Amino acid sequence: MLNFSTPIENIPKIGPVYAKRFKTLKIKTLGDLIFYFPKYYQDYSNIKNIADVKINEEICVKGRVIEIEEEKSWKKKLLITKAIVQDETAAIQVVWFNQPYIAKNVKKDDEIIVVGKTTISRNYLYISSTSFEKITEKENIHLGKVSAVYAETKGVTSRWIRYILNSIIDPIVSRLPETLPEEVIRKHDLLPLKEALYQIHFPSSLEIAEKAQMRFCFENVFMITLFSVKKKIENENETASQVPINNPVMERFLDDAPFQLTNDQKKAGWQVLKDMNRKYPMNRLLQGDVGSGKTVVSVMAAINTVKNKFQVVLMAPTEILAKQHFKTFFEMLKGYNINIGLLTGKEDKYYSKKLKSDTIEISRSKLLEKTEDGEIDILIGTHALIMPEKGKDKVQFDNLGLVIVDEQHRFGVKQRASLCKRQKDKIPHLLSMTATPIPRSLALTIWGDLDLSTIIEMPKGRKKIITEIVTELERQKTYNFIKKEVEKKRQVFVICPRIEANEKENYAAIEMKNVKEEYDNLSTKIFPELKINMLHGKMTPKEKEKIMKDFKSKKFDILVSTSVIEVGIDIPNASVMVIEGADRFGLSQLHQFRGRVGRGEHQSYCFLFTDSNSKKTGQRLQAMRKYDSGFKLSEMDLKIRGPGDFFGIKQWGLPDFAMNALKDPKMIEAIKKTADEIIEQDPLLNKYPNLKKRLEVFSEKIHLE
Ligand code: ADP
Ligand code: MG
Repeated sequence: MLNFSTPIENIPKIGPVYAKRFKTLKIKTLGDLIFYFPKYYQDYSNIKNIADVKINEEICVKGRVIEIEEEKSWKKKLLITKAIVQDETAAIQVVWFNQPYIAKNVKKDDEIIVVGKTTISRNYLYISSTSFEKITEKENIHLGKVSAVYAETKGVTSRWIRYILNSIIDPIVSRLPETLPEEVIRKHDLLPLKEALYQIHFPSSLEIAEKAQMRFCFENVFMITLFSVKKKIENENETASQVPINNPVMERFLDDAPFQLTNDQKKAGWQVLKDMNRKYPMNRLLQGDVGSGKTVVSVMAAINTVKNKFQVVLMAPTEILAKQHFKTFFEMLKGYNINIGLLTGKEDKYYSKKLKSDTIEISRSKLLEKTEDGEIDILIGTHALIMPEKGKDKVQFDNLGLVIVDEQHRFGVKQRASLCKRQKDKIPHLLSMTATPIPRSLALTIWGDLDLSTIIEMPKGRKKIITEIVTELERQKTYNFIKKEVEKKRQVFVICPRIEANEKENYAAIEMKNVKEEYDNLSTKIFPELKINMLHGKMTPKEKEKIMKDFKSKKFDILVSTSVIEVGIDIPNASVMVIEGADRFGLSQLHQFRGRVGRGEHQSYCFLFTDSNSKKTGQRLQAMRKYDSGFKLSEMDLKIRGPGDFFGIKQWGLPDFAMNALKDPKMIEAIKKTADEIIEQDPLLNKYPNLKKRLEVFSEKIHLE
């Protein structure tokens, strides 16, 4: 008997050849096939008499091919396929462009259904066809209806997929148990599983197709939400070392700090301290734009942890950032009798309370020894903390209480987890930080297991970065301006969408500015007298770090780079950010780039170069001029481009239509509420065995990622 795990080649009518083709679509089992959802639908339901066809109409006609031929237009190198199609009322010409397979498949006397737009040329009315269906006796069951269109591959057409599905779907689907609880289906007015599965492939109308999609979209988002709600509850059942708040020390720290903390900083700091004063591990994410002052919040948490005799570890994605943190920490904590270590794999340092004034070099083995016996209170480092080079020892702590991860999206789930390993019977508290804000609705789902703190308010006295949209006509003027900035000893970033031109790609891609050519162009033609360097993702991490270091120490004026410079490196002297092909980037990403400048005392500028004159692009780039909040921009990004660009989204493997639903905050909140209610009543989901099973399968898939 056929079931979900039946290999695709064992399905009747699918031989080894088709099985192989299906596998290129990642369809290996019957279950994969049933859950291979259409990309969109083609409406063949409204068939018109050819005699009634008018000009400039989107229409669908059905008739017999009485003539078909191909011709090449030599000027445009265009292949044109022309057919005359006739029904009981009249005949009309149908035209396809550059689709050589049509003449191979459609022959004289075939019955076809054609969808397209009617156009007139030289007084001659024809249909420019966007899609068509051949009617064969055995499968006209699905024609004259709304037809599912799937992502196809060579030798597997949507027609074929429908044909196979039609022959197996009924018995399989009828045996399928419902996964969603009855009351959830009722409350959210969803299609039951069986009906949804049938309708998503063979819809009786476009409306019902959408309803079927909605059901699966709901189910996907619901699973993600349940998964994170469950993870959150599991975390609450873990034990951590409770870290009470040492009020006198915190007060002194706030008094001593070189600046007055903003309200958002104080609030975030307080939330962190409160979380840690509990018997289960903190799992908090601190979001705040570049420069919003997240570090001081982590210092607050660190000092309170150390004063309670626990150790702290901070992991940063690059050596430069780790060193920056080391410096900040030891400057801020000088008078507090605390030992701080720096471990980067290259340079290992140590700040000892006995020295009080400066840092000393220390060997890695000494540093590890001091960490293991608890002498180091705060250890700051890079990936070297979790992935020691070959032959070197792993970091061991004596009594780790708090893990801080900076730019958390730069580390994988596993990497973070390996720092948060259970010690004796306890799990350390975790504070993650990110400058890549994510809209609240998305955070509720994909990061539902985290508590969020947000810094919106920027420290006082920050100068707003002046952002301009630059067209080709103003390019030279902008270069003149840049030259003046460099004469004032400022430095400049130039971001290009690509590393190098690739001949195989289409025209638009070749037109895109690429780092290598732009580097040549700027250094030989535009600014021959300036010192210019480049940076891109094909370089090794070591090469990249070296270039960033040289830039920081002002060894050159202009850095031409791909988007690899995204991570938070402080180059206060840089005052100009040029972004080529700005229309190619999402708003959040543009905002990240812009955050590279304006970090010092100089007025800074961001120039968005674009040759696109589409209205949508214009609106998007105008938003960059108008807003300087990463949150505002990320919300707009979500609305315009959907969630695909946000970190952490890909791992959930959502179908496109479900991705699209993540744009809708109201729906997300409703789903979240339902998930919360269900778990609250029945944390182990014992009342819902099917749901429980489905969630287990889902979790397993996520863990394997
Ligand atoms: P990020 O959130 O990007 O990590 P940082 O913590 O590095 O930001 O802070 C950026 C700069 O702002 C640092 O030089 C820091 O000393 C300064 N800063 C942070 N908070 C304040 C504040 N409340 N008032 C003035 N300056 C501040
Ligand atoms: Mg930072």
